[in-house]
This record gives sequence, C-alpha cells and structure tokens, in this order.
Amino acid sequence: MARRKKVYEGKTKILYDGPEPGTLIQYFKDDGAPTEAPAPTEGKGVLNNRLSEFFMSGLNSIGVPTHFIKRINMREQLVRMAEIIPLEVVVRNFAAGEISAKLGIPEGTSLPRPIVEYYYKDERLNSPMVSEEHIIAFGWATQQDLDDIVALALRVNDFLSGVMMGVGIRLADFRIEVGRIWEGDYMRLIVADEISPDSCRLWDLRGLGERGDNQPPPEPGPLADVYSELARRLGVMPSNVTHTTKPTLIN
Ligand code: ADP
Ligand code: MG
Repeated sequence: MARRKKVYEGKTKILYDGPEPGTLIQYFKDDGAPTEAPAPTEGKGVLNNRLSEFFMSGLNSIGVPTHFIKRINMREQLVRMAEIIPLEVVVRNFAAGEISAKLGIPEGTSLPRPIVEYYYKDERLNSPMVSEEHIIAFGWATQQDLDDIVALALRVNDFLSGVMMGVGIRLADFRIEVGRIWEGDYMRLIVADEISPDSCRLWDLRGLGERGDNQPPPEPGPLADVYSELARRLGVMPSNVTHTTKPTLIN
C-alpha cells in the first residue's frame, strides 16, 4: 500500500492528502492545547475528533457551511481542503483573557453584544490582534469576505452557545478559522480547522447554587476535565473512552 503524503504537521493536528482531489485527512494528536493547560492530555485527540465532528456536522445540518465531510476513525476525519484565510476569528460573549487584561473589563462581565476580533495567524509574531484596515490593506481578505466572515462567525456563535447552554455550559468565547473553497466559478467561505475545547472558553453553570444573605450570585468557573466532561454531557462518547486508546491487559 502506498504511503500517504503528510501535508502539514501543526501543534494539535496532522494533515494528510485525502482520497479525492480537494480533500484532506485531519489527524488529531494529543499534544498542544491552550497555553493554560500544561501537559498533553491522554485521549484528547480522540475526544476532539468526536467533538469537532459533532459541532461541524451540526453546523452543516443547519446550513452553516464547514469543511467536515465524515469521521474516518478514532483520530481522523475527512475534510474539504480549503484555502485558509490567515486569521483567527474570535467571538466573545463574556469578558475573559486578553480583553480583560487589555481593556480592564472584569473577567466574567457579560458583553453588551458579541464582539468579533481578528488575530493574524503567525506563530513567530505571537498571533497579534489586527483590524479590518490591516486585513484589507495587506490583502488577507476583502471587505466582502469580512462581511461574510462576521455573519458566519455569529451564526456559529448562536449555534454553539445554544448547544452549550443546553448542557449547562456558558460559551465565554471561541475562535474559528475560515477558508475559501471553489465551486465552479464561485468562491464560498466555510468554517475550517476544528471546534473543540482547545478553541472554546467554557464555564460550568451546573451546581452553582444560591449564595443567600445578600451575597452576589456565585460566578461560573472553568469546566473541570473539559474534554471528557463536554463529550459526556453532549453524549458523543462513553465516559471511559480515554482508556480505550491503549491496549489493556486482560487477566
Ligand atoms: P497550527 O499549529 O498551525 O494551529 P494545527 O495543529 O491546528 O496547526 O493543524 C491544523 C492546520 O491545518 C492549521 O494550520 C489550519 O490552518 C489548517 N487547516 C485546517 N482545516 C483546513 C482545511 N479544511 N483545509 C486546509 N487547511 C486546513
Ligand atoms: Mg491550530
């Protein structure tokens, strides 16, 4: 059997040539996670493969175009190859992280409307925040693309916020990558890369209870054991799946 061609290896995924032209296979590794998480979590790639499948196929089914075609196995999925726009598109519903640090807005503040931000996807530059002016001036995307990207990002936000709310989770913010695909003479923008706990800030709303005695209501905190807990609440995986990635000795 011919060896398949590795196209790219990033922090969290490997891309291989797909079986048909215009397709790719995405392999989900256990490494790489948001900077706060110190070590690779065993089985993270397996869970993210399932979770990204769940969110992307849900988006496809409500008419929000994504690159997802089908899951192949525990760690791989088939996707449409896209020309990635070199931006990380961030949508924020509640203040946290950079917006709190830079603008002094207390963490957890409900924002008056969803805020869409762009970060230039360049590791060496530490992915700096950029404005529409930069994006258009440097030719990364056109004004029309940006209008479409905002519309796409807000639809993803509504869908994801609703799904998370249904399982007692607050979607504080998330990021997506957007790519171009060509259908004959027409270009379309689709959601690419992945949607998983690595790209979402999730806060647990369950079990907060009441604090009484004129105290302010308790604040939701980060979701503990986020990969397996999210998979469990969404019912996409049996809860013990992370143990099935390694063979077990049967006595
Ligand atoms: P990185 O470390 O660069 O973030 P990842 O480990 O996340 O990389 O690997 C995924 C890479 O594949 C990213 O560079 C992403 O832009 C790219 N990518 C994701 N989806 C697609 C797609 N549908 N077509 C082409 N490239 C994609
Ligand atoms: Mg990435």
